[in-house]
Amino acid sequence: MNTTNDVLWNDQPWWACESIHAHQTADVCVIGLGASGLSAIVTLAQHGFDVIGVDAGMIGGGAAGSNGGFVLAGLAAFHHDAVDALGHHRATTLYQLTLDAIADLQKEEPGLRMSGSLRIAADDEEYADCLAQFRVMQHDGLPVKTYEGSEGRGILFPNDGTFQPLYRVRRLAQQATTLGARLFERSSVTTIQSNLVTIEQYHIQCKHVIVAVDGRLEQLFPQLRSIVQTTRLQMAATAPAHDVALSRPVYYRYGYDYWQQRPDGRIAIGGGRDLYASEEWGYNPNPTQNIQSVIEERLRTVVNTSAPITHRWGACVAYRHDDVRPFVGLLMPNVWACGAYSGTGNIVGCIVAKAISRTIIENDARHLEPWIN
Ligand SMILES: Cc1cc2nc3c(=O)[nH]c(=O)nc-3n(C[C@H](O)[C@H](O)[C@H](O)COP(=O)(O)OP(=O)(O)OC[C@H]3O[C@@H](n4cnc5c(N)ncnc54)[C@H](O)[C@@H]3O)c2cc1C
Repeated sequence: MNTTNDVLWNDQPWWACESIHAHQTADVCVIGLGASGLSAIVTLAQHGFDVIGVDAGMIGGGAAGSNGGFVLAGLAAFHHDAVDALGHHRATTLYQLTLDAIADLQKEEPGLRMSGSLRIAADDEEYADCLAQFRVMQHDGLPVKTYEGSEGRGILFPNDGTFQPLYRVRRLAQQATTLGARLFERSSVTTIQSNLVTIEQYHIQCKHVIVAVDGRLEQLFPQLRSIVQTTRLQMAATAPAHDVALSRPVYYRYGYDYWQQRPDGRIAIGGGRDLYASEEWGYNPNPTQNIQSVIEERLRTVVNTSAPITHRWGACVAYRHDDVRPFVGLLMPNVWACGAYSGTGNIVGCIVAKAISRTIIENDARHLEPWIN
């Protein structure tokens, strides 16, 4: 089995940015050029801020460009679990923010397919949990239906969808540079101080810093190690599959396994992390034999396709242990950080990164209130 990283979504030529090669000054330095960091940059640049964005690797080279492409409302925790942790009002407010963000994304992302998504139960116990989730979502006025169909039994979220995640990141990068932001790839940040970001021998002097890394957050801020932990998530993709026709992305086995069929017929499938959790913590993104075997088994026995696997890959994200919400905080004067979306960051990451930008623009943290308090 080939275990080098080969991401399905990386199928188009793309320009490379230069790496940092001189001292710089800016109003804001954003660390991390995934969808979260780039959303922050676009928001700031639209308001006339002079912004520099840096990444240790490439634009979209982290989780934002390598993920399952599910556009999901809500937090990583299912809504009824979020309600248990946060109460109805707070959990529903957060869910509504993600619904609003998806509605906004529909206006600007041509590749977004609003198919809805399915949570399918692997057994009777999980089906009972699906129904519990359904009841709480209905009680809170959130869009959900019960579902029974060729995929199995579960619940349907009509306002979810899918996109090509790397194209999304690249569109944001193009928008950021058009607005005048300066982006640097292959520029790994070593130290962060209140008004100074250091990359090898170069300094970026700035009024504010936004750290928008998901995986590796606790590497940059060791004080977060007790609550935030980086893990690898893995996926595989097939050649166009002619023996199945899936109209919606599927979350299965409490979301530990997930798959979708692309318009060209390819299946993108991920999961299995919980079965080898202790091997998956850490910073190495490359796929492994153990997890890839689980993914392949699901592909053959649950998705039921014999289409050959053409791509295997992994990427790092961070999980948060002490809260169902992601981490958002001011870690030193003028230094904001966000991350730890616990595996569901396509929408939430952009919301919190934009909320930090608005906090800087308006000098008012009310946009962050539901995420922090
Ligand atoms: C296999 C997989 C499947 C997933 N599926 C889904 C899904 O279907 N739906 C969903 O909502 N979420 C999904 N997620 C989670 C989601 O991808 C992430 O939560 C989200 O994309 C994080 O985006 P980001 O921009 O915050 O971080 P990233 O895209 O990870 O970007 C952070 C960037 O920071 C850079 N960086 C890190 N350290 C430094 C440093 N010291 N100096 C400079 N740069 C640094 C990294 O190089 C990276 O490019 C999945 C994740 C994976 C890995």
